[in-house]
Amino acid sequence: MLMSHKHPKESSSQYDVAVIGGGPGGAALAGILARQGRRCVVFEQSFFPRYHIGESLVPHTHGILERLGLLAKMKASPYPEKYSVRFVSPDGREATPFYFSETIPGDGARTWQVERSTFDRMLLDHARELGAEVREGVGVESVLFEGTRATGVSIASGSGAETIAAKVVVDASGRGTLIGRQLGLKGDVPGLKKASLWGYYRGGKRLPGIDAGETTMFLISGGGWFWYIPLPDDIVSVGVVADPNYLFTAGDAPEVIFEREVSRCTPLGERLVAAQRVGPVRGLRQLAYLNRQTCGDGWVMIGDARAFLDPIYSSGLFLALGSAELAAGCIEDALTADDVSAARLGAFEPALWDGVDAVRRLIHAFYDPAFSFRVFAERFPEQRRSLIDCLVGDVVKDMSGFKQALAQMSPPPPPLSDSIPLSEAPSPASDEL
Ligand SMILES: Cc1cc2nc3c(=O)[nH]c(=O)nc-3n(C[C@H](O)[C@H](O)[C@H](O)COP(=O)(O)OP(=O)(O)OC[C@H]3O[C@@H](n4cnc5c(N)ncnc54)[C@H](O)[C@@H]3O)c2cc1C
Repeated sequence: MLMSHKHPKESSSQYDVAVIGGGPGGAALAGILARQGRRCVVFEQSFFPRYHIGESLVPHTHGILERLGLLAKMKASPYPEKYSVRFVSPDGREATPFYFSETIPGDGARTWQVERSTFDRMLLDHARELGAEVREGVGVESVLFEGTRATGVSIASGSGAETIAAKVVVDASGRGTLIGRQLGLKGDVPGLKKASLWGYYRGGKRLPGIDAGETTMFLISGGGWFWYIPLPDDIVSVGVVADPNYLFTAGDAPEVIFEREVSRCTPLGERLVAAQRVGPVRGLRQLAYLNRQTCGDGWVMIGDARAFLDPIYSSGLFLALGSAELAAGCIEDALTADDVSAARLGAFEPALWDGVDAVRRLIHAFYDPAFSFRVFAERFPEQRRSLIDCLVGDVVKDMSGFKQALAQMSPPPPPLSDSIPLSEAPSPASDEL
């Protein structure tokens, strides 16, 4: 078990940054700031390694992993290398894979399929090595405020609640969305109501050569899809994403529904013909949510604590690591200027939201029965590159031409600012099956 390095007397002194959650976002942010000499503490409620879903990286994480100093470890890891993404239609027709080398030169054109328990532990250990204090098995109960400014966190400790003072509080609690729930900021994303069930197989088929580590998306009728993600030790992650009204009508147990969907998807079944399912079927009733405010005086959200839209383009880990790096830059500026206002802490947000918006539009287009990637690429050949940019995560840049082209084939969803009901925020616990 990894023990805290913290001495009890330190609890009254002030940290520069208190991070809620030691997942990829929290670990990356704490590591970057600690390396710069900032006093950071990370509170992680569980003990690592712990299970987590979300195994497919996109290539645009390459630069972040390199800047974090983790590229050598990734190259030496047992994680399958991923060079491409392929879509397979319900009748088994395979589209030409999108190879990342079409838009990215050299080493950065491949990425990895990661086992999250070991990947997340590597990141959190790295944050420790860079000087962050990490306290595992310590959950944050609430964020403390003076007026509207966050001033620290309250943690559960053996002797009752303990107060930790910090100049900046970072919510990296993932789907726990601690600040979003505490301040009632969390809401649904209209038009994105998808549920998911997933499990793991040993012995699923792997394609030859550089396709062995690809993500394959098997489309199913009715607008849903399966992911097929090869992992180390001959394990494959397989999950279905579909409308909850479609998945859950019969009231069957998750295993029964999952096996039913696998058996209905013939091209997927061919890959699993000699495979055995290992471990439980897990699931979420509702995947998408977002917060109508993602920073304030003295606090900022990163990663899944900000928002989660849909796993179709595997952008979650990229957004967690990317928002961590961008937020770390703003926090460093804010601490240097002794001004932790929302305006300074959230200076990275407009560009990031703009990039997320391009991905969100492509998510809506994917679920629009009238939209076709093939027809889009034929009608707007100059946009094929932007299409791949969305698949690799290279979206924090001007994507206006792409959005305009997309709007000609699929009506754009309502602006993010309009799309959040201010009440009835879903409770994350109730989303889990
Ligand atoms: C079905 C599904 C499939 C997905 N597939 C992919 C994929 O293929 N590729 C991809 O990139 N992404 C995928 N994702 C998304 C990915 O899982 C997340 O985007 C990613 O884990 C976000 O990282 P994070 O650091 O923000 O949060 P997390 O990884 O969730 O880490 C948050 C941490 O905070 C801790 N925590 C929570 N509350 C507290 C508290 N109160 N106090 C202390 N600690 C706390 C948790 O224990 C956890 O360790 C998928 C998601 C889903 C739901």
